[in-house]
Amino acid sequence: PHAPTPAEHVYADVQRLIIPYVTGNVHPGFMGWVHGGGNPVGMLAELIAGGLNANLGGRDHAPIEVERQVVRWAAEMVGLPTDSSGLMVTGSSMANLVAVLVARRATLGPEIRSKGIAGARLTAYAARTAHGCIARAMDIAGFGTDALRLIRCDADHRIDLSDLAAHIAQDRAEGAQPFLVIGTAGTVDVGAVDNLSGLATFCRSAGLWFHVDAAFGALAMLSPRHRPLLAGIEQADSLALDFHKWAQVPYDAGCILVRDGTKQAAAFAQTVAYLRREDRGLAGGAPWPCDLGPDLSRGFRALKVWMTLKTYGADHLGQIVDTTCAVAQHLAARIRDDPALELLAPVALNIVCFRVRDVTDPDRLNRDIVADLQEGGIAAPSTTTVKGTLAIRAAIVNHRTRDADVDRMLDAVLLRARVRRGPPLHPPV
Ligand SMILES: *Cc1c(COP(=O)(O)O)cnc(C)c1O
Repeated sequence: PHAPTPAEHVYADVQRLIIPYVTGNVHPGFMGWVHGGGNPVGMLAELIAGGLNANLGGRDHAPIEVERQVVRWAAEMVGLPTDSSGLMVTGSSMANLVAVLVARRATLGPEIRSKGIAGARLTAYAARTAHGCIARAMDIAGFGTDALRLIRCDADHRIDLSDLAAHIAQDRAEGAQPFLVIGTAGTVDVGAVDNLSGLATFCRSAGLWFHVDAAFGALAMLSPRHRPLLAGIEQADSLALDFHKWAQVPYDAGCILVRDGTKQAAAFAQTVAYLRREDRGLAGGAPWPCDLGPDLSRGFRALKVWMTLKTYGADHLGQIVDTTCAVAQHLAARIRDDPALELLAPVALNIVCFRVRDVTDPDRLNRDIVADLQEGGIAAPSTTTVKGTLAIRAAIVNHRTRDADVDRMLDAVLLRARVRRGPPLHPPV
């Protein structure tokens, strides 16, 4: 638009054209993908951060200290040393990419930054259930997605350690250079947690970088009941997590942690004249966040995390983890009790994958039911594929979701199944 518009008209447009048509992830019936519910303190923080208009790429000011404290809190939560380095980023996709780049530099040395990968045949390993952003990180890092070896899973959807060892031995025999293993704490399809302590031990003995994608699962560390599932996470060389999922902080708020901070800086730090550091004045306070990741200008993402954690407290966030997992178990129990339904994966945390049984075309029927629910505005599960079949997937992440909300969702699933199948050919008398 070339001409100005009065602010009240612009605001009216926001109310009329945008607000009614969002995905709805603040609603308790939203169970799709892994979306956080947000919170009002985070909303206030966004307003303050917008007003301050701070640039957290560098220089010496309080907002950067807030980010450093958030990074220390994140490290403390997962049991990494509190002098680990870290950075707020958009989300775990970026955090996982940063981790691959840090591990790449740690493996190949400083030359990689001037000469490029120059034919190095580095290979990385993750379970088949790993998030798609891991393959994309290998692509962006210059290794290509084929250099990510996808490892078989056991019946609980956890990485199979013997298949991992076999792949690594074979790659070494063929002249490739294994460098990185990615474990997942909370897989995106069914919420499984890899055997992280087994992976840590394996990586140490094999001399490999151990990264954990704990995008949403990291928050389970705040729950005394669920924390044991993640044992071994504290041995990670690097770790990706999101505050915008289970921690209920508004989008976007991801975080990368690196145990040995010198390795993170080695992958990104640069010296350029216009970013000269001083020991006093605004150009003090080195190292700067721009030394730890790809961005120079960066907003004050950390404030909404800091204010959310301070206001509600870590114990309360742990209770949200417990409540959402209990709601998932309630849903799983109802599915097990209903012969019309089939539970497709064990429920380790907060994700329930199931389907309506059907003899004709179960994938089609379940896909249509999910779209019916989303368009009807009753509830919003999403879909995934589990063991080759289409699953209705309910991820209970929102702190507002209760048993009654998943009951309403399941009742709607059963109703839509009946409507879609039409009347039985031989109605019971
Ligand atoms: C959500 C998720 C990601 C991607 O994180 P974004 O914040 O969406 O970029 C990666 N891994 C897992 C396991 C996730 O759940």
